[in-house]
Amino acid sequence: MRAIRELAYVEVASSELTRDINRDLILEQIRAAQPISRVDLARRSGLQPSTVSSIVEQLKEERWIRESATVRTARGRRPTQLLLNDDLLMLVADVRPTQAVLAVVDLNGRFLSRLLVPLASSVKSSVEAIAVGMNQLRSQHPGKSFEGVGLSVPGRVDPQTNRLVLVPNLKWIDYDISGELSKKLKLRVELENDANACLLSELWFGHLDGMRDVVLIAISEGLGTSVLAGGRLITGRNGLAGEFGHVCVDANGPLCGCGKHGCWEMFASSSAALRYYSELRPESGKITMNELITLALNQDEAALGALHRQAEAIGRGLRMVDAALSPEAILFAGDVTMFWNIAREIIERECTAGLLTKGGPRLMSTGDGELALLRGAAAVVLQRHSGYYRSAHGKQRK
Ligand SMILES: [Zn+2]
Repeated sequence: MRAIRELAYVEVASSELTRDINRDLILEQIRAAQPISRVDLARRSGLQPSTVSSIVEQLKEERWIRESATVRTARGRRPTQLLLNDDLLMLVADVRPTQAVLAVVDLNGRFLSRLLVPLASSVKSSVEAIAVGMNQLRSQHPGKSFEGVGLSVPGRVDPQTNRLVLVPNLKWIDYDISGELSKKLKLRVELENDANACLLSELWFGHLDGMRDVVLIAISEGLGTSVLAGGRLITGRNGLAGEFGHVCVDANGPLCGCGKHGCWEMFASSSAALRYYSELRPESGKITMNELITLALNQDEAALGALHRQAEAIGRGLRMVDAALSPEAILFAGDVTMFWNIAREIIERECTAGLLTKGGPRLMSTGDGELALLRGAAAVVLQRHSGYYRSAHGKQRK
């Protein structure tokens, strides 16, 4: 994780911060190079062996890492190897307007079990359904310990209060979801915007290739955006930074869940694609996004037409994202990754047609549909001690 490595040189304001950053660095090195010995860790991180040892002790105590059994080779005893502790699990959920996908994930981002839970319209019964589902999943892994719960939600979360501040497609505002769920599960619950969670996961699981200026756009029922600028996740006032989805692109456009007309999301989300399809095939009745994509992959003309219109709207909106942030890459997550082969070229053409200079951002797909969002929810738990988490949430919740 280049971002944190560079921070180690830039931000040495206090010894406490330095220790935190070194801890992140060691954890990241173990994740990337496991199994790895203390000697190799010192060599790779450039830290003093004594510093490495004391951080390793702390990580072992917190059960983030474990030691492998000592190996004897022909040349003598091999140094003890360190690995992420895969006995430590997390409960995660990708919450959508009508359903939540729950899963158990280990520290390496592996999915161990999964459960789909339909959600009611009331937030109280939805939280209850999530708790019941999570307890059911937990009972499938006796003898393992659970580090915490991560929820990825299609709305904005205030980093100070851990409460939702904007959820246009869910009527979930002003309810202490993390507090209530935490009471039911007896575990700490982290809540994060789906796009932010997904970008954290790309950082944590090392997919960003050292890039420091990246925008992630999660497109499913709605359109969420997350911004990494100079290696830092930007949260802004009340955690609202990057709400491009609710910028008006046509004042005469359809009414959005946020109460305004013609937001970018109303033209570029899965809901928009379904609307385009029903305009082309009014007799078809209600279909799901999965059904629409399947139709398009089978060369259904109206389905292809609907996805083309959606992709054009995505591309046009990217012009404002590029003008605002000029990122190295724009990463896509959510439903749009399921028809990336169809969408990519159209998005790129529409986006680059409106740019100020030649050579637009790299457009990339996170590639695995809902898994990227679930992995994002896990990253939120993993990043609890990281530089981003501390900068956004302050020290009070540690
Ligand atoms: Zn809106």
